[in-house]
Amino acid sequence: MGKILDGKAFANLRAEKLKEKVKDLKAQGITPLFCVINVGDNKASKIYVRTKKRRAESVGIIQKIYQLPEDEKEEDLLALIDKLNADPKVYGVMVQLPAPKQINVDRVLERIDPEKDVDGLTPSNIGRLWQGNHFVEPATADGILALLDHYNIDLKGKDVVVIGRSNIVGKPVAALMLERDATVSILHLETKNLSQYTKNADVVVSAAGQAGLVTADMVKDGVIVIDVGINHVNGHLVGDVDFDSVAPKASYITPVPGGVGPLTVEFLMEQVIKLTRRANGIRE
Ligand code: NDP
Repeated sequence: MGKILDGKAFANLRAEKLKEKVKDLKAQGITPLFCVINVGDNKASKIYVRTKKRRAESVGIIQKIYQLPEDEKEEDLLALIDKLNADPKVYGVMVQLPAPKQINVDRVLERIDPEKDVDGLTPSNIGRLWQGNHFVEPATADGILALLDHYNIDLKGKDVVVIGRSNIVGKPVAALMLERDATVSILHLETKNLSQYTKNADVVVSAAGQAGLVTADMVKDGVIVIDVGINHVNGHLVGDVDFDSVAPKASYITPVPGGVGPLTVEFLMEQVIKLTRRANGIRE
């Protein structure tokens, strides 16, 4: 049975350290404040926004939520972003995705001031990430790398397969692992034969959003498995990986829930603090 990579415990450990950083900022008269804009009625988005707010409050960060209607005009959303960009008390701005179809997501993300871009999704921050010159890192990817470091798992020379190529998860995970000298393959829906890649992988990261996608016959003994997927099956939360069959073959594996999920929220808060400190000229 593989060793469990306990994302929840690690996130809680990090949160304690983060609280100290927040205290230091407050002692200097600086209040970390970030804004989350949610457009429309997507149920999952509303839950994510609330989860973030709870976490923010628990470490002393203020999260302001702008809940906008489903038929919000793009120009009004852009005007709100401009206003938050210009407000010196706001250190982070993010737009919860997905957005309704009248909104051009690329245009909206591009409008966020890269120095307040807590999600790391503006073109300049994505470019910096691939250059190895990060300003901010997408939280899920950053959290996964930190979790591997915490368990002393070195990626150098390892063959890594990332299933999924979204800007928010798959691509940044691949970029950060490449930077750690892993050899990375990125798989997607047009990949002809997933097994051909996963069977040879030392590390499999699944960020597809499909329950039961990765099964025991697709991985080799000793594989390290990072399950990013969040799927609801018969009222239960499950990942992309068939945990019961894969765990016995793995050397390390993240559970769902309790693996990557808690890291995402924690590392988002860490980006907020990083941007707040930088905006106030405080060194890392
Ligand atoms: P997207 O839907 O944006 O991307 C999914 C990616 O997976 C796409 O690139 C898609 O390929 C690929 N994919 C889907 N099905 C398959 C398949 N059967 N075989 C190969 N590739 C496949 O999702 P996100 O990246 O936003 O999220 C991915 C999953 O991670 C979701 O379950 C989401 O809920 C979860 N998530 C979890 C987080 C956490 O904290 N644990 C944080 C963020 C997301 P293609 O590009 O060809 O369409």
